[in-house]
Amino acid sequence: MNLTPAKKKVNLILDYSLTFKKSKTNMQVKKILQGQRPSLSFEFFPPKTQEATNDLLLNIDKLASYAPNYVSITYGAGGTTRHQTHDLVSKLHKDKNIPVVPHLTCVGHSFEELHEILSHYCTMGIQNIMVLRGDPPKKEKSFTPHPQGPRYAKDLVSYIKKNFPHLSIGVAGFPEGHPETPNFIKEMDYLKEKIDAGADYICTQLFFDNHYFFEYQERCDLMGIKVPIIAGLMPITTLSGLKRMCELAEGCKIPARLLKAVKWTNSPEQLEEVGIHWATEQLRELLYRDTAGVHLYTLNKASTIETIFKNLGLNESHQLHSKEDWAL
Ligand SMILES: Cc1cc2nc3c(=O)[nH]c(=O)nc-3n(C[C@H](O)[C@H](O)[C@H](O)COP(=O)(O)OP(=O)(O)OC[C@H]3O[C@@H](n4cnc5c(N)ncnc54)[C@H](O)[C@@H]3O)c2cc1C
Repeated sequence: MNLTPAKKKVNLILDYSLTFKKSKTNMQVKKILQGQRPSLSFEFFPPKTQEATNDLLLNIDKLASYAPNYVSITYGAGGTTRHQTHDLVSKLHKDKNIPVVPHLTCVGHSFEELHEILSHYCTMGIQNIMVLRGDPPKKEKSFTPHPQGPRYAKDLVSYIKKNFPHLSIGVAGFPEGHPETPNFIKEMDYLKEKIDAGADYICTQLFFDNHYFFEYQERCDLMGIKVPIIAGLMPITTLSGLKRMCELAEGCKIPARLLKAVKWTNSPEQLEEVGIHWATEQLRELLYRDTAGVHLYTLNKASTIETIFKNLGLNESHQLHSKEDWAL
């Protein structure tokens, strides 16, 4: 069968993932990125109810058949999901044959509290952590650090590097610039500080125009930032989701071509098709351009991601990597 370069690359994800599955069930993302390019990962958030948790676990099982290299679990604003994040991380780490990357933010935490959370993860055998400053709680306009806590993500990165040196550390990157940063020169200076503090890789904020990602890669290269950069992608499937996403990922630009397509849709189903098509083409180009890894913001649903992979022609490989491999 003649495969296009893009399809060859997509198949590589699955081949590499299979290699990973055969070698270790828990591995540092740093190492995954050294040996396997591109990596495939999914992001989930901790659900609030038992019913939603059961639903999420079913969705994770569906997505596990694509042999992701790792999954990450978000940490709610102001540490509000502290226990839910911990519980979900613990469950997935115990029950699923897949590395789990917990997110951790500085918001409202002293170093002592952060130390306790990190110690729990280490006792469990977690090898990875995604370090973020976090956003200020809704009622507050600007971020105020805990008097005995870190001010920036880089401060927590330094702390972890010193006290939990075996953890592989990921940090956030903003291809369109972080909304609070005054300009792109500062954006890159601060990013460099995070990397110099000990971060092993960057995972980006979602973007709808790959041009921003490629430009960002070049800027990192100019700054001497050599760690792998994983592209964060989120398909839009509803109008309300699109609006919420623009609020959450402040500063994220929606290309006019995408906006027009969204505007011309006549039904929620058609809008979903537009969003899935857009994300498919973004993913195809990223894989074709040798991106270090792709990280899919799933919103806890498998079906959208499944359709994207189907669009990319991943069905046969999907069959090769059966769910049994991931069973408890
Ligand atoms: C992949 C990804 C995952 C995320 N997961 C979560 C999550 O689970 N939970 C959550 O609450 N949020 C999450 N976020 C959102 C993130 O917490 C916010 O975007 C936050 O505003 C910035 O976090 P940061 O880690 O980039 O912070 P930092 O790198 O600390 O930057 C925060 C601000 O401070 C500025 N800054 C940095 N260093 C300096 C310095 N030395 N001097 C002056 N200014 C400086 C930066 O330019 C930026 O404007 C995620 C974002 C991404 C991209």
